[in-house]
Amino acid sequence: TGAPKLLEVTGLKATYGHSITALDGVDLSLAEGEILALLGGNGAGKTTTLKAISNLLPAERGRVTEGAVRYQGETVLSRSPAALVRAGLVQVLEGRHCFKSLSVEENLVSGGLGRSASRTEIAEDLERVYSWFPRLRDKRRALSGLTSGGEQQMTAIGRALMARPRLLILDEPSMGLAPIVVQDIFRALRRLNTQEGLSILVAEQNSAIALTYADRAVILENGRTVLEGDARELKARGDVRAFYLGQK
Ligand code: ATP
Repeated sequence: TGAPKLLEVTGLKATYGHSITALDGVDLSLAEGEILALLGGNGAGKTTTLKAISNLLPAERGRVTEGAVRYQGETVLSRSPAALVRAGLVQVLEGRHCFKSLSVEENLVSGGLGRSASRTEIAEDLERVYSWFPRLRDKRRALSGLTSGGEQQMTAIGRALMARPRLLILDEPSMGLAPIVVQDIFRALRRLNTQEGLSILVAEQNSAIALTYADRAVILENGRTVLEGDARELKARGDVRAFYLGQK
């Protein structure tokens, strides 16, 4: 059907070092305006898939050996991670990376530095981030290292939003956070999706929350796509939870 998908990963295989196979056939696609969850247990290949999408594998001695990643119809392998960010493909890495010795607001501003924005634009974008995450406004002068885990995750997401993404990619945003904070974060992501049309790819071990907020999901096992489908249908299937997601 006509226009290319916003993101298309086909037959992706990847290795680390000389011989460690991390991906052995990952397929996924994301249409503009969608929230896609990437699910799977520890070591299933979620992080490696996300790094391949942002062309970040070479920095880890990783390499795509087969298959393709296309963003807006073009391969990502010939573009630098920074160029991909400028093209709207923005990733929040695992473990809520903030500059701990900078204030929350300084962290946010740093996310907009890659594009040539005026002061007014930066100020407007900051206001937008504070409207999505009101807790960050209250904490804007606090050192990030002294804020809570949830606030650090919100700061990391807010910093990504400052780059004006078209596709936001998140690696385990729920990690180590209290359930109520996880809900706040996923609610904000859902609102960003419905109100601003932001497309989102989110890797999660917490399949329950991800399937609640995503439109579709892809399940990885041993570096392979084993299942793909509508999030609500997958959530309702007990066999899927038991076999692939390690839940009762
Ligand atoms: P997690 O939730 O633990 O991050 P994951 O689904 O994201 O799991 P990956 O981190 O992509 O899985 O790991 C896939 C495979 O690649 C695993 O076997 C892992 O040990 C291996 N691997 C990941 N990163 C590296 C690396 N930098 N060097 C070598 N092997 C790695």
